Amino acid sequence: MDILRVNLGNRSYPIIIGSKLEKIDKSFFCIEKKNKVMLITNTRISKLWKNNVITYLSEKYGHIDELVLDDGEQFKQLKTVEFVISIMLKKKYSRNSVLIALGGGVIGDIVGFVASIYLRGISYIQLPTTFLSQIDSSIGGKTGVNHIFGKNMIGSFWQPKSVILNLDFLSSLPFSEIQSGMAEVVKYAIIFDERFFIWLEENFSLVLNLDKVSVLYCIKKCCELKAKIVSNDEKENDLRALLNLGHTYGHAIETELGYGFWSHGQAVSVGIVISSYTSFLLGFLQEQELLRIIFLLKNIGLPVHLSKNSSAQSYLNHMQRDKKVISGVLRLILPKKIGKCDIYSKIDSDIILKSIESVMV
Ligand code: NAD
Ligand code: MG
Repeated sequence: MDILRVNLGNRSYPIIIGSKLEKIDKSFFCIEKKNKVMLITNTRISKLWKNNVITYLSEKYGHIDELVLDDGEQFKQLKTVEFVISIMLKKKYSRNSVLIALGGGVIGDIVGFVASIYLRGISYIQLPTTFLSQIDSSIGGKTGVNHIFGKNMIGSFWQPKSVILNLDFLSSLPFSEIQSGMAEVVKYAIIFDERFFIWLEENFSLVLNLDKVSVLYCIKKCCELKAKIVSNDEKENDLRALLNLGHTYGHAIETELGYGFWSHGQAVSVGIVISSYTSFLLGFLQEQELLRIIFLLKNIGLPVHLSKNSSAQSYLNHMQRDKKVISGVLRLILPKKIGKCDIYSKIDSDIILKSIESVMV
């Protein structure tokens, strides 16, 4: 078992990385017997893992309430938040009640958001079950839901009390979900770590096939990076913004194609490719590195193209509604080289349109 830490003063918390839930010390759940606890998951994960978790936790904490939501990105919306809150109010949940998010990024984002606004904020614990949520979304306290006008438009920063990664959960994931998580893994490597990128070029298929040592290496590497960044820049002033590589384009793709049409990771993959083209067209990124990025994503089995069914302009329109634009100018994270990214603003619309067109087939 490995323990990492997000350091945020009195809001610091551990990230526990292990396999076999039974071996993870229950004290990491930071629950007291007097607390009311609700485990929130979705229909799919409920069938696979809920009983296992409930059995493990109820031995120590007694009764745990369960709430099973519908499965899908399209349910990451305010209606679901209201539904969860109504149930908590009916059950008389108080300020010291605790929520447990058992699921991928969708469940984690919804539960974190509910926890942040219920009675002005209660505790929650992340028990991420997808590769993507184990390496990214469960850490850092970004919570929220989508609006028809844009991804994650309604949300808050609200840190969990702990993040518990059980690698066993990954065993039931469809292959496509491991691929999807790999988009965020490649993102970390492009932003921060050329050696990790090279490691991925050589070992991506081991990770995709859930080779234990490689998966653990990969998860630890990403969690270490994320924990360090969040510890230094919780509210995304500068450093944390780098993690948005591929996301301004990616969110526009998710909004344009409809939530759930592509997975988040698939959209981010194409977003990374478009950002790399933008950087290439501006003369920052060398062509050879652009091609290595595309090649790695393609080899993983992630999309690197968009269809011509939507125009480049329609993606740009979505980008102009992105959070990062609403609060200022359009800023893009661009790779200068593999392992080094920077924030750029005031990029010509023509370059953005040309970059999007570069991936259209
Ligand atoms: P997801 O939560 O939709 O999970 C993907 C699918 O896998 C779902 O159908 C889910 O039911 C299923 N599933 C989950 N665990 C499983 C398991 N162990 N076995 C079998 N099936 C399982 O998607 P995701 O990729 O985990 O997360 C994407 C979401 O995360 C997006 O909404 C994105 O915006 C958000 N996100 C948030 C942050 C953040 O910092 N808060 C960061 C990155 C992404
Ligand atoms: Mg993401």
